Amino acid sequence: MMRFQDKVVLITGAASGLGRATALQLAQEGAKLAIVDRNGAALEETQGALRAAAPNVEILAIAADVADEQAVRGFVDQTVARFGAIDGFFNNAGIEGKQNPTEDYGIDEFHKVVAVNLDGVFVGMKYVLQAMHRQGYGAIVNTASVGGIRGVGNQAGYAASKHGVVGLTRNAGVEYGQFGIRINAVAPGAIMTPMVEGALRQIGGDDWEAVGREYVSVNPMKRLGRPEEVAYVVAFLLSDQASFINATVIPIDGGQSYKY
Ligand code: NAD
Repeated sequence: MMRFQDKVVLITGAASGLGRATALQLAQEGAKLAIVDRNGAALEETQGALRAAAPNVEILAIAADVADEQAVRGFVDQTVARFGAIDGFFNNAGIEGKQNPTEDYGIDEFHKVVAVNLDGVFVGMKYVLQAMHRQGYGAIVNTASVGGIRGVGNQAGYAASKHGVVGLTRNAGVEYGQFGIRINAVAPGAIMTPMVEGALRQIGGDDWEAVGREYVSVNPMKRLGRPEEVAYVVAFLLSDQASFINATVIPIDGGQSYKY
């Protein structure tokens, strides 16, 4: 399939995990990519992987922090200046934060997580929507989490921010559907990325793989997800095939959230 031939997609958190897997999928379907991550070295490595997978891919790589509003405005402007439009936006960069019961959860940690996961998603939507509204079309996919639709525990900052992402998605989808712009969110469960490995290590230390096995034992599919299983859904939602899907949140979790 070449659903993204001549289309421009901007991806944040593109240098690892779900963002990187989605960039690889879209590059192979013909997209021109603006890839953003605060980790410049990993972004460089990701560019190499994208060119290996899709030798003709056009890439604009920008090292930036999504929690910095001026930086966000800057990478949106640079994307439009380079490619002329933004067809799709995967608003995905996020951090997990420390695992702690709420009474022990520090306010600094709370603000840090919310600054990236919620403020970052908000300002990303704000500036991309200005461009999409001007051009009269576009699709946005925000990365929420099962922690944004259910209580998971020990993640006050993460839960607040991801529930907030769900709210921002529904609110903006209702506002912008009339302008030909669709805004949806994905809510992944535990997908094997560096973030999840980090979370399992926080809980289990050297025994983190055992914690992972215990975690998936309650999943109806008895396994962790793979990054490309999220990338396929994001690509679908950004494509014209999802033309009447708007303001919704799609869990990608093997059915786990329905067991909580
Ligand atoms: P990851 O750590 O593998 O990748 C996240 C990327 O985002 C990294 O490259 C990191 O450098 C970048 N990033 C982090 N903060 C940034 C910032 N302020 N500005 C710019 N870039 C920044 O994690 P992942 O698992 O791929 O997570 C991607 C998104 O998916 C996050 O929003 C996360 O909350 C969400 N999510 C992940 C899972 C999972 O199981 N992996 C589940 C639910 C939701």
